[in-house]
Amino acid sequence: MDFAGPIDALTGTPAARFGLYVHFPYCVSKCPYCDFAVAVVREVPEERYARAVLTELDARLAADPSLRERTLESIFLGGGTPSLWHPRWVAHVLEGVAARLRVAPGAEVSLEANPSLADAGRFAGYRAAGVNRLSLGVQSFQEQTLQALGREHSGAQAVAAFETARRAGFDVVSMDFIYGVHGQTRAQVEADARQAVALRPEHLSTYALTVEREVLAVATPLSRQLDQGVLALPSDEAVVEMAQTVRDVYAEGGLHRYEISNHARPGFSSRHNALYWTGGEYLALGVGATGMWLTSPSGAPPEGSRYVNPRGSGAYLRAVEEGRPVEASREALGPEELFAERLSMGLRLRSGVDWEAVCARYGQSPEPRRAEVGRLVRHGLARLEGSRLVLTDAGADVHSAICARLL
Ligand code: SF4
Repeated sequence: MDFAGPIDALTGTPAARFGLYVHFPYCVSKCPYCDFAVAVVREVPEERYARAVLTELDARLAADPSLRERTLESIFLGGGTPSLWHPRWVAHVLEGVAARLRVAPGAEVSLEANPSLADAGRFAGYRAAGVNRLSLGVQSFQEQTLQALGREHSGAQAVAAFETARRAGFDVVSMDFIYGVHGQTRAQVEADARQAVALRPEHLSTYALTVEREVLAVATPLSRQLDQGVLALPSDEAVVEMAQTVRDVYAEGGLHRYEISNHARPGFSSRHNALYWTGGEYLALGVGATGMWLTSPSGAPPEGSRYVNPRGSGAYLRAVEEGRPVEASREALGPEELFAERLSMGLRLRSGVDWEAVCARYGQSPEPRRAEVGRLVRHGLARLEGSRLVLTDAGADVHSAICARLL
């Protein structure tokens, strides 16, 4: 299936404009590189958590009835390990959402699944509940890399999980991979990429394990071991080579790079993730979830508001069940903050971003930035495609530094 939905005009990217993220915080164990809002528990409170998420939704709708007039174009159940949630409770949550909010026909509904919990009945249950895109946290097929990452599954289980997803009727399957892991070689990264492509997935997300990028947060057991010199990541040059290998193998396999860390077959880029890269709005429910929407009247530069729920599952459940406000924090976002986010996220996309139109929308002058754009183009870090500024592969490798200069 291909997902219906709008195209973001400033980047040319298919992207939901309003989506829902549901965070499921429970995991069977904590991976040493992980800093997500995660609770390791012996028994997952599946029913209690499902009911809490819908109670939170009711409270949010009571506080802002205008949300009922919006149409959800994507729903993403992320974690944590949402595949620890029995399909019965996933169905309960999705039915509860559809009973309270409008869900667009053809909306993308994703669920993150752990390869070690991939039984056929469970996956078929998710499909029957309305999940139409499964995202498998494979990370690697190599035992050595999986062990280094503290993952519970084997490479063979990851392959079996993919095949089980297909048999359960998922015709859109994504897999997540990590490269640049301590002890990993370029040849192992290439083997992972080749094996991934051979399975013919629709989508692959592939992240480097570096502190500056997305995967490895600063305060984790793994980053402490790196600081103490007990472990060492591959050199920057080796990681750049690994990244190039991944890109080449995926391209040969027909998966085009549409975002710095994401590849897809034509028509299968993630609508929900693209929402974050294109200034979309999102409601979020559950432990540690972050939601954001715009508040300004049409015509004026947008302003917004972002909230974050508490990261502890006990605190979250108690607040919801006692009818107390659940948010841990809420911040107002002015046009300048939204501009910075829109431009830097837009530059992650391989379609690029109409940078002058972004300036116009958020009330920022393009003039002080024009010379820097010219420099980026002259140095081969970016090119202009019509009105869109597109980072080259070399530019994408230094995305953060480029954004710092443009903002
Ligand atoms: S990386 Fe994923 S599976 Fe591992 S602890 Fe974090 S959320 Fe759980």
